[in-house]
Amino acid sequence: MSVLEGSMIDQLRATHRAAAATLPYTHVADLRIGGASVRSTGSAHETVVDPATGETWGSVPEGTASDVDAAVAAARAAFPSWAARTPTERADALRRMADAVERRAEVLAITNTLENGSPIAETGGAASNAAAILRVFASLSSYLEEPDIRPFPGGVNETVVARDPIGVCALIAPWNFPINLVVIKLAPALLAGCTVVIKPASPTPLSIRFLLDAADEAGIPPGVINLVTGGGATGEILVRHPDVDKVAFTGSTPVGRRIAAACGELLRPVTLELGGKSAAIILPDADLDAMSSVLVRSCVRNTGQTCYISTRLIATPERYDALVDMVTATVGAARVGDPLDPATVFGPVATAAQRDKVMGYVRSGIAEDARVTVGGDIAPPIEGGSFVAPTVFADVSPDMRIAREEIFGPIITIIPARDVDDAVAISNSTNFGLGGIVFGSDEDAAFQVARRVDTGSIGVNFFASNHYAPFGGRHDSGLGVEYGIEGLNAYLTPQSVHRRSR
Ligand code: NAD
Repeated sequence: MSVLEGSMIDQLRATHRAAAATLPYTHVADLRIGGASVRSTGSAHETVVDPATGETWGSVPEGTASDVDAAVAAARAAFPSWAARTPTERADALRRMADAVERRAEVLAITNTLENGSPIAETGGAASNAAAILRVFASLSSYLEEPDIRPFPGGVNETVVARDPIGVCALIAPWNFPINLVVIKLAPALLAGCTVVIKPASPTPLSIRFLLDAADEAGIPPGVINLVTGGGATGEILVRHPDVDKVAFTGSTPVGRRIAAACGELLRPVTLELGGKSAAIILPDADLDAMSSVLVRSCVRNTGQTCYISTRLIATPERYDALVDMVTATVGAARVGDPLDPATVFGPVATAAQRDKVMGYVRSGIAEDARVTVGGDIAPPIEGGSFVAPTVFADVSPDMRIAREEIFGPIITIIPARDVDDAVAISNSTNFGLGGIVFGSDEDAAFQVARRVDTGSIGVNFFASNHYAPFGGRHDSGLGVEYGIEGLNAYLTPQSVHRRSR
């Protein structure tokens, strides 16, 4: 099956209602503040909609300014004693939390899939990925334990460089990977000795609760991790709260700019992981069969809703036609359907608004005369669900909107290049600078091409984040990095103490 039949919707609805009925968190009235379930001071709620069916199955409070106040106060109160624990003690807590997250893998995955439509094959790995991130940061505790003493140049004095936790951190996440994109902030923050207030995205406010449950089970003290739900207005209150010491944000570039402006005004440290429009360069010696096996994960992972995926394929004339055929066949054969079905490759996009936005780009590509080789349907395949037909556009020119703007849906664009230099120039021609891949059989030559691509990360014949290595965007794709020692440093503030040499 490559396109959903209208008759599937009844079956889909029944399956999804039954799945939602098994979940502990659906309609919740509380926030998590200071280790307790606290009712919001407001009465407004946000609904949680299953994008596969269009049905509402959950709701959460929309956090108010006084809710944010209470959460920040709880984080502030918990800070001194958490910061006073040794890094080894905090690392042990992260390891216990990792185990506790893994015990919740299934319920977390189903909740996540019903929130944002990510295929269960994707969300099924969310808990183990979160656990891996927690364990990687736990393994970095020696960086905080070992004394860092630096002699003055040519002098008798020395400096002890201490690394203090930065304080109370606001962690603001998007909806595409609601667990991973919190844990990537939470793990270094906790290891550093910071306390946090998490603000998940409106479509995905429930799966995050399993992370807080895991933290409770791991014995992480009350107030170290607090949760306030709500939309952009709640996020903005949190970003601007006077008692927040640092903001870590993943989301769109326009919202990132707004947060950066607020943090600039407040002189508040901020990490921004923003949008992308990454490119895969296909060199003349690329192995297209091998590329086919990683195509979906590299270029349209999570129904095209992944920040770093290479949605622009740039090929030289030698491989262009063969590439178009391979991509068309691979995408055309991938299963579109119920995201709860483990065999599904493409589920719905996360919201009806996202579906409309992606459809707008499909229309724009058609209007600009890009050639549709598969997909391109401009009517949603089923009523209620936010499905978009996976679409490949060939013969795209770099100035088309579909080649320049982040679409965040299952759409691939294929751009012809004159030669490798032209391919590199095209790949560097957007305002973004997040990811990318170079496909080529001579991996040393491909590596050299990768070094010419102006992005924060890039892969040779595959792309994956390495939790030990920095991940971040250049230009409109962000400010600062996550993962690795560099990601940990973002939650630390150094103090240099100068003294006589011992
Ligand atoms: P978004 O920017 O609309 O929202 C992200 C979060 O910010 C949400 O929690 C939202 O409620 C909150 N928010 C909105 N306005 C705010 C404001 N004024 N102040 C404070 N918080 C505010 O992004 P999205 O649509 O949820 O996510 C998709 C985007 O995220 C895409 O652009 C994608 O590329 C990007 N993303 C980037 C990375 C990365 O690591 N670079 C990873 C995943 C997603």
